[in-house]
Amino acid sequence: MRYSAFGLLQEALRGNRGWAPAWRDPAPKDRYDVIIVGGGGHGLATAHYLAKNHGLTDVAVLEKGPIGLGNVGRNTTIVRANYGLPGNEPFYAHSLKLWEGLSRDLNFNVMFSQRGVLNLCHTPAQYDQFARRGNAMRLMGEDAELLDADGVKALVPGIETEDGRFPVAGGLLQRRAGTARHDAVAWGYARAASAAGVDIVQHCEVTGIVREGNRVKGVETTRGFIGCDRLGLAVAGNTSRLGDMAGLRLPIESHVLQAFVSEGLKPVLPGVVTYGIGHFYISQSDKGGLVFGGDLDGYNSYAQRGNLPLVEHVMAAGTALLPWLPRLRVLRSWGGVMDMSMDGSPIIGTTPIDNLYLNAGWCYGGFKATPASGWCFAHTIATGSPHPLNAAFRLDRTMTGHLIDEEQAGPQPNLH
Ligand SMILES: Cc1cc2nc3c(=O)[nH]c(=O)nc-3n(C[C@H](O)[C@H](O)[C@H](O)COP(=O)(O)OP(=O)(O)OC[C@H]3O[C@@H](n4cnc5c(N)ncnc54)[C@H](O)[C@@H]3O)c2cc1C
Repeated sequence: MRYSAFGLLQEALRGNRGWAPAWRDPAPKDRYDVIIVGGGGHGLATAHYLAKNHGLTDVAVLEKGPIGLGNVGRNTTIVRANYGLPGNEPFYAHSLKLWEGLSRDLNFNVMFSQRGVLNLCHTPAQYDQFARRGNAMRLMGEDAELLDADGVKALVPGIETEDGRFPVAGGLLQRRAGTARHDAVAWGYARAASAAGVDIVQHCEVTGIVREGNRVKGVETTRGFIGCDRLGLAVAGNTSRLGDMAGLRLPIESHVLQAFVSEGLKPVLPGVVTYGIGHFYISQSDKGGLVFGGDLDGYNSYAQRGNLPLVEHVMAAGTALLPWLPRLRVLRSWGGVMDMSMDGSPIIGTTPIDNLYLNAGWCYGGFKATPASGWCFAHTIATGSPHPLNAAFRLDRTMTGHLIDEEQAGPQPNLH
């Protein structure tokens, strides 16, 4: 069923009785060409591009709960391509281009809003470093603008630039960046993949990976054994658990990240603002709530909830940047489990097991990557080798030393 303005009008006139379910709810078959574990943004996007770009439709996405309740539905929806390193920037630039056409591609409004992302800097040295990153972005074809403190103040009037805990020296602005509606991304990809013939099997937890020599034969699930020719893992915070089932010890740690949303306000923030020195970032949703967050909770966990010291830290950092923030009430907070890699960059590629493919290491930046990640993972699974855009995201780079350390934080996952 294609969505259109005409269809909307027609359904409104006949009492909304004609809508079909957005995706099918099939029982799993005995085997598939390709099984993707994880019905988050990345797993569902991979299924869509396997069907659309490679004609592979004998595909199942196995999800332990309902789709969209993992990190794809828990993030703060920031989409940007403001990286400086060659391994990262072309990949995220491709992702941003896919975002720009995504609603049309999926025939589903993902509410992508290019309202800009502004990273603040606080010292002359950091200003120089931002200039360098902005130049690198422009050399690779992305948009980037360097603002001084007055430019920041003009763009975001409520910011404390001079007398706050950390004075603001300027900022790096990417205007094509912005936010999107996270649930819609999961639902839009699910609907498009399902329409192409992919089985999206909810409430089907993978409990074991069955191998024969160096090949995967299939998976044990709460709905029985399901065979496959190729297996892709896209389980975000549960990556090390699934790796363990396959007999792989992976360079991933799981940490909790929290987010918060305030009561609704009239527009006060034009776009996303990140306050790196305070470990704080904020934007305003279409409903008017301020959506904000900060640093990782700092300990390993698989629980989707956070701790109070981090809540206090986020509120203090937010108040240092926006002195009026404490006048608002926080309506909700929640946590998600992050798959932190050693260098802060993702892994999309082959593994030492012949027909097992891995998509992981998204840290707290995987939402923006969803389209390109699905695109590249689908290519890797369909052809057996990486696309040039994900060639640098190899699993073995921690062994070979080819790290992509955008933050220059060294091999410490909790610092990226
Ligand atoms: C608070 C917070 C804020 C964030 N903010 C941003 C942001 O602003 N911008 C940005 O780019 N990124 C952000 N992120 C990161 C981003 O959300 C993630 O990197 C990304 O969503 C991970 O990919 P995914 O959507 O596929 O993950 P998920 O949605 O978590 O999908 C993985 C799925 O695998 C399923 N699964 C796990 N184990 C099994 C199993 N054994 N069997 C079957 N299914 C299984 C899970 O149930 C889950 O649905 C944020 C994350 C959090 C938590």
